[in-house]
Amino acid sequence: MDPTREQPWLVESLKRIEDVSSKQQHTLKNAINCSGVGLHSGAKVTMCLKPAAVDTGIVFHRTDIGRTDLVTAMAVSDDAATTKIGADIGANIGPEISLNSNHDIPARWDTVSDTIMSTTVQNAAGDKVATVEHLMAALAGCGVDNVRVELDGPEVPVMDGSSAPFVFLIECAGLAPQQARRRAIRVLRRVEIDDGCLRAALLPSDGFTVSLEIVFDSPAIARQSGFFDLHNGGFKRDICRARTFGFENDVSRLKDLGLGQGGSLDNVVVVGRDDEIMNDGGLRYGDEFVRHKVLDCVGDLYLAGGPLLAHFAGEKTGHASNNELLRKLFSDPANWEYCYDEAQPSPGPARVWDQPMASATAIARTA
Ligand SMILES: [Zn+2]
Repeated sequence: MDPTREQPWLVESLKRIEDVSSKQQHTLKNAINCSGVGLHSGAKVTMCLKPAAVDTGIVFHRTDIGRTDLVTAMAVSDDAATTKIGADIGANIGPEISLNSNHDIPARWDTVSDTIMSTTVQNAAGDKVATVEHLMAALAGCGVDNVRVELDGPEVPVMDGSSAPFVFLIECAGLAPQQARRRAIRVLRRVEIDDGCLRAALLPSDGFTVSLEIVFDSPAIARQSGFFDLHNGGFKRDICRARTFGFENDVSRLKDLGLGQGGSLDNVVVVGRDDEIMNDGGLRYGDEFVRHKVLDCVGDLYLAGGPLLAHFAGEKTGHASNNELLRKLFSDPANWEYCYDEAQPSPGPARVWDQPMASATAIARTA
């Protein structure tokens, strides 16, 4: 099925941004708003994407939290001017992570505070923004280096469960080149995690590519895998429309846990008890499930603080392992370096592991 048939605006989007491997940093030409509900909180939220200066990176800001909280944040800081966001591994080895003690929340691997069902970032004052990964993926895929994301609630709106509405927003706002070179993060040697149930690796590469395999008990998903080159419009063409997914059997359990409160057939692909797809119109891609997992991976890995020059290979990975892999990468300065060279598309998938995984048990049952 033609992936652009359902949403004709995507055709124009794909035409306008075809290569994000620019040497220059980019921000948005104009500010732009959207409103929706949070997938897990169910909270209504309005989000505004605003242009930001060179080297700002992606920064979230909660406008619903009062200035009185700033006093508390300053009081608990050892140094009123600068606070280090804690990290379990390598807090002082990875890219610089200092920030002013205010309500800004840098979207960084070392500000990730929760990876249950989604990725949450948090600042020293305790301000949190949940479910950042689909927006982060759109920003990565569109080549946005610097943007300020203001929200009046605790979670990025889920929109249709994919990154496509955010790509549309970015396209409407337009991209503005900036007078500074883009700084990528080049992976210098293989970095890997393997806990026997899942495994993930970053390998040196001249571009950013992803190969991923997922395995679920449900015959509706079963085993899906793919290799994806995110350059030259690859993210928008092959990945951005893939929606998050869940299982009808898990709905009541998740809602009891306070998760999925904003979930519906308008923003989640739901696999029914008989393994049928419950959404009108079915799937957007035949293998939409693995493509959504790739989308999550692209968003989570953009929390590196810039584009990665690496091949990511994963089996049964999720938000927690994506963040764990970044923490391992930055735990040793010999693993990476800053790089200002233009990214080059990868020639294709490489053989990553010599042996298949022994276990084929399902991972967490929702994306
Ligand atoms: Zn997701």
